[in-house]
Amino acid sequence: MSEFALIDVLRARCAQARDDVVLGIGDDAALSTVPPGRQLVSCTDTLLAGVHFLPDTAPEDIGWKALAVNLSDLASMGAEPAWALLALTLPEADTGFVERFADGFVELARAHDIALIGGDTTQGPLSVTVTALGFVPIGAALTRAGARAGDVVFVTGMLGDAAGALALSLPPLAGEGARSAVFSPEGGWGQLLKRLNRPEPRIAAGLALRDLARACIDVSDGLLADLGHVCTASNVGAEIEADALPISPELTASFDAQTRRDLALAGGDDYELCFTAPAEREATIVKALDRAGCGATRIGRIVAGSGVRVVDSHGNVIATPRAGWEHFSR
Ligand code: ADP
Ligand code: MG
Repeated sequence: MSEFALIDVLRARCAQARDDVVLGIGDDAALSTVPPGRQLVSCTDTLLAGVHFLPDTAPEDIGWKALAVNLSDLASMGAEPAWALLALTLPEADTGFVERFADGFVELARAHDIALIGGDTTQGPLSVTVTALGFVPIGAALTRAGARAGDVVFVTGMLGDAAGALALSLPPLAGEGARSAVFSPEGGWGQLLKRLNRPEPRIAAGLALRDLARACIDVSDGLLADLGHVCTASNVGAEIEADALPISPELTASFDAQTRRDLALAGGDDYELCFTAPAEREATIVKALDRAGCGATRIGRIVAGSGVRVVDSHGNVIATPRAGWEHFSR
């Protein structure tokens, strides 16, 4: 199987028609049309075997997640996704792997009407880089800057599920906080694994938040780390109420209270949106994000100063785990 045969497999399996694609896979570069009155929003993210996914992850899940993590970045900007590029490095020309990878990739791509318009295929240790492109009306993008003291802080969906699944998959890390009774893929663990392997990018939520949020980020490296980026960019601080963190029944069934709080605060791979807004918009936001399918929970507020602190129900600051994942940090 040659490089070009693999590209043909991807082109055939990932076909998705869009009127704005003038020239897709097959020439030296793709040609597409940005609608008038829109700005182009672009992002790229790499997944590496052993760093971003477990070595035994199903190829379909790798394909889904490689696109999902990029769509999550577009969602956090309030963008409507349109196109994707895929740079795939494979140890060998494994058609079976590429077919299954493409099936997972295209399942998510079709759900959001995204056309795969190009990429690159090379040999080497397994690595997947996706570039995603989308639009916002001129000036409408959400950014990390813009949070103001007095804003409330929200997060979509639930936190800590993916990190919980990872902890349960790596027994030495599961530690004392894990309850072994539910270590079964058929039980709550299966739901947690789905959150690790098939994150749902919050595209509809991002679109709804364009007119409602002041600042937004997607939670990929853990809430403390990512909200910290919003605070730095906005020149403010944040106070999070530990008891307000949205935690799923599956995570509750699998970990003790302190472990699930730590997973929600510092575990990675949530791909939820964390955003700030004026307090009086709370009811509108909760309604809009219920309609978007993920809901939103108020978890704290923006304050003057810097940094993120977490408080208990008495307002006392509590110790938090080391914030977030960073490459080159170990
Ligand atoms: P070039 O040598 O000009 O870089 P390639 O042979 O790498 O061209 O690619 C041929 C065509 O196939 C290009 O349109 C490219 O965008 C597309 N392509 C290559 N690899 C992939 C991939 N993994 N996914 C999608 N399109 C791809
Ligand atoms: Mg090339």
